[in-house]
Amino acid sequence: MTRRWLFADQLGPHFDVGRSGVLLVESRAALGRRRYHRQKLHLILSALRHRATDLGDSAVYLRADTYGEALAELGEPVRVYEPTSFAADAFVRRRLESGEVESVDPTPGYSLRKDEFATWAGDRRRLRMDDFYRFQRQRLDLLMEGADPVGGRWSYDDENREPPPKGKATLGAPAPYRPREDDIDAEVRDDLDRWARDDRLETVGADGPRLFAVTRREALAALERFVTERLVGFGPHEDAMLKGDWEMAHSLLSVPLNLGLLSPVEVAERAVQAYADGDAPLASVEGFVRQVVGWREYVWHVYWHFGRTYRRRNTMAARSSLPPWFDDLEADSVDAACLGDVLGGVRDRGWVHHIPRLMVLGNWAAQRGYDPDELTEWFQTRFVDGYDWVMPANVVGMSQHADGGAMATKPYVSGGAYIDRMSDYCGGCRYDPKKRVGEDACPFTAGYWAYLDRNADRLEGNNRMARPLQGRHRLKDLHELVEQEKARGDDPP
Ligand SMILES: Cc1cc2nc3c(=O)[nH]c(=O)nc-3n(C[C@H](O)[C@H](O)[C@H](O)COP(=O)(O)OP(=O)(O)OC[C@H]3O[C@@H](n4cnc5c(N)ncnc54)[C@H](O)[C@@H]3O)c2cc1C
Ligand code: SF4
Repeated sequence: MTRRWLFADQLGPHFDVGRSGVLLVESRAALGRRRYHRQKLHLILSALRHRATDLGDSAVYLRADTYGEALAELGEPVRVYEPTSFAADAFVRRRLESGEVESVDPTPGYSLRKDEFATWAGDRRRLRMDDFYRFQRQRLDLLMEGADPVGGRWSYDDENREPPPKGKATLGAPAPYRPREDDIDAEVRDDLDRWARDDRLETVGADGPRLFAVTRREALAALERFVTERLVGFGPHEDAMLKGDWEMAHSLLSVPLNLGLLSPVEVAERAVQAYADGDAPLASVEGFVRQVVGWREYVWHVYWHFGRTYRRRNTMAARSSLPPWFDDLEADSVDAACLGDVLGGVRDRGWVHHIPRLMVLGNWAAQRGYDPDELTEWFQTRFVDGYDWVMPANVVGMSQHADGGAMATKPYVSGGAYIDRMSDYCGGCRYDPKKRVGEDACPFTAGYWAYLDRNADRLEGNNRMARPLQGRHRLKDLHELVEQEKARGDDPP
């Protein structure tokens, strides 16, 4: 019988611990290799140490410089589940050859195995998320009536794009679950402080009370609170942003899901149960199920499907380095109300919801031509739920259109009008979303046109961009606007 080595994102009961015990490793090299958000390191360490405490004597908990040293110290072979990055996968495959790893078993962290996805993908010309989602719904029998979707439609996405409610500072959803810190958190905080003082660790972002679940008990409580109190409001305002309400009706489950504390199927099934019990409407439940067994699993599989080089794609030839204020999360140096608030959210929590990620941060980065590889690294390290496998599809594909359209048929770029419609930011901003040039010209509006002008040749064959590309010729101030944005350079807007 062989001990199983569980990685820091394999911490729930669906990662079977068997009867031979478990190895958990805290690698100092892995923690210090990149400049991570302080709260992200806290979550990972807290999760690992809590799991070790829960497992008691059946767990060997090693603190080593590298994973290799930990394996040498253990001195016996281990079994592993498939890890979640190319680098970790290569590591365990090498150790498989050397005999230190006995087997690499399919991960129970996702509902569909890699070989099953390969069969589904077959020789399809395009891997469409919508097709994959239907396949998942049918296969997992989620919201199905025989062969048909409950309610007669697969997606209620078109009902979920409402702007924020007028005149309201918050959505008014019941508060999400908040964990209570304990002695393990205090010890983690002390360790991180000490390593930073000794110059052994450089982090970015603010420390703060732990906001996300790191144990199975906490994760189940967070799921339950979301499903029973907040799911009913999930959906209609999914795409909206409010400066006074960072959580809105989102589930805040990405951290426990990505730590492997919850299985995606149990999460989706719990939401479907709420619909069956009459506790949440179909549009909200369907929207949530689509995120968890549709988007999340699709993003996981395309990571492996597109391969290691996908992350380096750069078809928009964007080569600017991230300016220091952006890289260091210096939100106070930013006047643009939307970008300042969102960057501040990343600094203070390492988390903002999907639309600020896509339509503020990603939009800004695309407009300014930030290098997608650098940006991917930034998202992965600055967000508490960032992992290698989540980044390429979301950042390189969706948000930067750097893959030539393999993920999304058009770039997610927009001017200030979109942000104005979908948020309450613009009213309190020194810029005017309608202005393209001048002192109070909105940097997103001007940036949008400058982006189109700079990338006109690259977007030429894209039918969905034909109208906006044509539209730029009607702007009398296009030249002035392009010069204005060039002059803005790397300064914070
Ligand atoms: C530029 C960019 C970067 C992103 N980076 C990350 C990341 O580092 N880690 C991460 O988990 N998600 C990432 N996402 C996807 C999504 O924004 C987050 O999963 C979501 O905001 C997390 O908040 P939540 O748990 O409240 O999600 P909800 O809105 O409540 O959605 C429920 C769950 O669905 C899953 N999900 C939904 N969309 C996606 C998606 N596109 N990719 C993966 N999972 C999805 C998540 O597990 C999430 O917890 C990113 C999206 C963009 C556009
Ligand atoms: S005016 Fe422009 S910069 Fe200001 S909040 Fe609106 S979109 Fe953002």
